[in-house]
Amino acid sequence: MSSRAEILRRLGEQTQWDVLIIGGGATGLGAAVEAASRGYKTALIERSDFAKGTSSRSTKLVHGGVRYLEQMNITLVMDALRERGRMLHNAPHLVHDLSFVVPVFDLFGLPYYGFGLKVYEWLSGKLSFGPSSILSTKETQQLLPGVRTQSLRGGVLYHDGQFDDARYAIALMRTFEDLGGTAANYVEATGLIEQNGKTIGAHARDLETNDLFDLRAKVVINATGVFTEQVLAMDGDRETLLSVSQGSHFVLPPDFLPSSNAMMIPKTSDGRVLFAIPWHGSTVVGTTDEAVERASVEPRSMASERAFLLDHIHKYLGRKPRREEILSVWSGLRPLVRKGSGGATSKLSRDHTILVRPSGLVTVTGGKWTTYRRMGEDAINRAAEVGGLPSQPSRTTLLRLHGWSRDAVAAESDRVYGSDLPKLEQLSQENPALNELIHPKLPYRMREVVWAARHEMARSVEDVLARRTRALFLNAQAAIEAAPRVADLLAKELKRSEESKTRDLENFYTVARGYIYEDEE
Ligand SMILES: Cc1cc2nc3c(=O)[nH]c(=O)nc-3n(C[C@H](O)[C@H](O)[C@H](O)COP(=O)(O)OP(=O)(O)OC[C@H]3O[C@@H](n4cnc5c(N)ncnc54)[C@H](O)[C@@H]3O)c2cc1C
Repeated sequence: MSSRAEILRRLGEQTQWDVLIIGGGATGLGAAVEAASRGYKTALIERSDFAKGTSSRSTKLVHGGVRYLEQMNITLVMDALRERGRMLHNAPHLVHDLSFVVPVFDLFGLPYYGFGLKVYEWLSGKLSFGPSSILSTKETQQLLPGVRTQSLRGGVLYHDGQFDDARYAIALMRTFEDLGGTAANYVEATGLIEQNGKTIGAHARDLETNDLFDLRAKVVINATGVFTEQVLAMDGDRETLLSVSQGSHFVLPPDFLPSSNAMMIPKTSDGRVLFAIPWHGSTVVGTTDEAVERASVEPRSMASERAFLLDHIHKYLGRKPRREEILSVWSGLRPLVRKGSGGATSKLSRDHTILVRPSGLVTVTGGKWTTYRRMGEDAINRAAEVGGLPSQPSRTTLLRLHGWSRDAVAAESDRVYGSDLPKLEQLSQENPALNELIHPKLPYRMREVVWAARHEMARSVEDVLARRTRALFLNAQAAIEAAPRVADLLAKELKRSEESKTRDLENFYTVARGYIYEDEE
C-alpha cells in the first residue's frame, strides 16, 4: 500500500483522470473498484475517513431484505440476493452465513412466515445460503435461549449473510489500489470545476495540511450519501432529493443472546423489523427508523429510539439491560430517495437512483450496502457514456477482493484480514509487545494498530478504534481506556509530535463519549 504522501503526489501529478469519485463509503468505493477494474484511470477523495459515514454504522447484514418481500418489492429482493451471493463469493473472509430464527407468537404466523421465508430462499436460486424450516416451540427455545416463552408457538429458521461493514470498505479501498486506483482520505471536494457548462473536475482541500488543489476528470461522480445534496448544490441544483432516516443500535454482552443464531422480529408492535445478532462476541440489537431534518457527521441516538430498543429487548429477550450492560450505542443515517413528499421513512424504497445533471455530474445514491456493487456497475455504465470513455464490460461480479481467503480462522477479529493475516502475525513474532491485547475486554492486538497505519491509511486514533478495528462499536468504555496506548503507537508509526498526538486523543474522546449509553433520568 502506498503512503499517504505518495497518494497525494499521484493526485497532484495526474493532469486528467478518467473518473473522479467524491465520497469514500460503500457507494463511492464500489464505483471506484468498478471503474478501475474496467481500466479507467480513477481517483477517489473522501473528506473524512473511509466508511466514516453510514457505511460503518449498518446492522451488518448482507441480505435481500425480508421486509421488502413483504412490501412486494421482488426486483429489489432478487437483485440484493444475487449481490449477497457475490459478496460471499468475492470476500469469504468478510462475509459469512448466519442462521436467523423468527420466533412466532400467534398460530397464523407460522404458515405466513414459513411460506414467506421459503419464497425468500427460492428467490436466491443457486446462490441460496441454506434451506428455511419451521421449528417447534422447543426447537425455537433451543436455538434462541432466553427468548420470550409467553405465547411462543414456534419459529421459522432461515439463512442470510453477515459482515463487517467498515472492514469490507477497507478491503474495497485496498482492492482499488491493487487495481491501480488512487484513493485519499481526509481530502474534501470544496467545489466543482466547470467549463462551458460542463463539470470537468473538483476543487479539493487536503484537510491535514489545508493545501488546496484541483482535480480534473472526464467525468465526476457524486457518491456522498446523506450529503449528496451538498455536492448537487455545488452544481447549482438546490432541489430536495433525499429524506434522511436515522437508525440506532445497542451492543449488549453475549449473555443477552447466548447463541450463534440471530433473532429476527419481522413486525414489532409499531410495525418495524428488529434484529438481535451475535457479532464479534457481542449482541447487536437494532434498528430504528426515525426521520431527521438534517444530515450530520456524528448522529446521536434520540430518546425515543433508546426507549424503543429498551422496551423491545425487554419484551423479546426477557430483561431490560442495565446501564452498564449497554456497551455501545451507535446511529447511522440512511440516504433515502424521496418519492413525492410525506409518509414514514420506513416505507421509502431502498432502491438506488442515478441522476445525470446537464453539466454531466453523475450522482449515485440510495440503495443498501448489499447492493453497493450493482450501484457501482450502474453508475460507471452511465459515467462511461457521459465521459466518452471506451466502452468496457463490468468485471466485478467475480472479482475477488483484497485479502480473499477461505481459511478457517477461529477468531473473527483475525479472519477479517484474510490472506494478510500471516503478515500481521509476523509483526508480532518480530516484536512480541505487538501481540498484547489493546484492552482485556477487546479482541484486538497492538499489531493491528501498526498494520492500520502502514497498510490501511489509518490517520487517527478514531480510524483505528472505530473502523480498522471495531473497538468503539463493541465496547465504548474499553475503547476509551485503550486509546492512550493506541495513540502512543500510532504517533510513533506516523512520526507525529506529542502535541498532535494529544489533539488526536482529545478528538477521539469527544467522538467516543457519544457511544456511551446515558440514562434517561
Ligand atoms: C441504521 C442503518 C442500518 C443499515 N443496515 C444495513 C444492513 O444491515 N445491510 C445493508 O445492506 N444496508 C444497510 N444499511 C444501508 C447502508 O449502510 C447504506 O446504504 C450505505 O452504507 C450507504 O453508503 P454511501 O457510500 O452511499 O454513504 P456513506 O457511507 O455515508 O458515504 C458517503 C461519504 O461521502 C463523504 N463525503 C461527503 N461529502 C464529501 C465531500 N464534499 N468531499 C469528500 N467526501 C465527502 C462522507 O464523508 C461519507 O464518508 C443501513 C443503513 C442504516 C442507516
